[in-house]
Amino acid sequence: MSILVVGTIGLDDIETPFGSVRSELGGSATHFSAAAALYAPVNLVSVVGTDLAPERLDFLRQRGVDTRGVQVVEGQTFRWSGRYHFDMNSRDTLDTQLNVYANFVPRLPEDYGKSQFVFLANMDPEQQRQVLEQVRAPVLTMMDTMDLWIRTRREELDRIIGMVDMVTMNDSEVRMFADTTSIAVGARLILAMGPRAILVKKGENGAVMFTRDNQFFAAPAYPLEEVRDPTGAGDSFAGGFMGYLASSDGTEDDVFKRAVIHGSAVASFCVEDFGVQRLQTLTRGEVDRRYSEFHTFTQFEPL
Ligand code: AMP
Repeated sequence: MSILVVGTIGLDDIETPFGSVRSELGGSATHFSAAAALYAPVNLVSVVGTDLAPERLDFLRQRGVDTRGVQVVEGQTFRWSGRYHFDMNSRDTLDTQLNVYANFVPRLPEDYGKSQFVFLANMDPEQQRQVLEQVRAPVLTMMDTMDLWIRTRREELDRIIGMVDMVTMNDSEVRMFADTTSIAVGARLILAMGPRAILVKKGENGAVMFTRDNQFFAAPAYPLEEVRDPTGAGDSFAGGFMGYLASSDGTEDDVFKRAVIHGSAVASFCVEDFGVQRLQTLTRGEVDRRYSEFHTFTQFEPL
């Protein structure tokens, strides 16, 4: 089954304790697509400026990502710059230049409307709604968001949360959204708005999933000795998660749990190098081996 993703393709300047890169290919949709395409065909909708050399997206095309939905507009591509400190769970955004993304109106090529799985990456909730309106009969829709939209577009955000099947947020975003210190309370509040499940990302503390039927599932983060650049961890997690669902038969809770582990495994590779560098060489076989390691180190005997 095919996956539709709408989000940013950008050029990132990133500084971490392990080094720095400039104009590294990034963006939420790039990280998501690189991960999800390991599992299933991906239809990508985004916008880039004429400054982005078209061959920079070749690796996505070679992996089976359909880029006909990437608009090329006269001007500069979206740019983001961030700095991580020793605690890489938090980062400072130094600069965000929307550039051609500022006037982005998501337009899906006709056949993309048939995509069964839909990921609305972090963007204005109004744009997310415009995307959903162009999709015919999705099997599963999932959205991401960020503090900016929680603060400035609350009404629109509430509306789109009520329209999707799944929400993914960082732990700090859940707390902010629900005005609570408890992730469990925040997740319950969001589930009461309509979604079937919420995936909460907790950086090096892994990820947890809450479902409407009161299921809870937790995955640790893979114990890496060197995290070189956490950028894109959340989007590649979502890509591995949704990619696995799209390649499986069914969307029941057990499949969701396996998908959380796939997301965690892919994200653990993403952070091993800057930008999408590690995702570019990553194979499904490597992901599957790490999946098996997750199984080994989370098993224990019942009482
Ligand atoms: P993540 O680390 O998963 O949050 O994703 C980081 C990616 O999101 C980077 O490659 C950035 O280019 C992109 N990004 C940063 N800020 C924004 C924003 N305000 N809207 C959309 N994408 C963004």
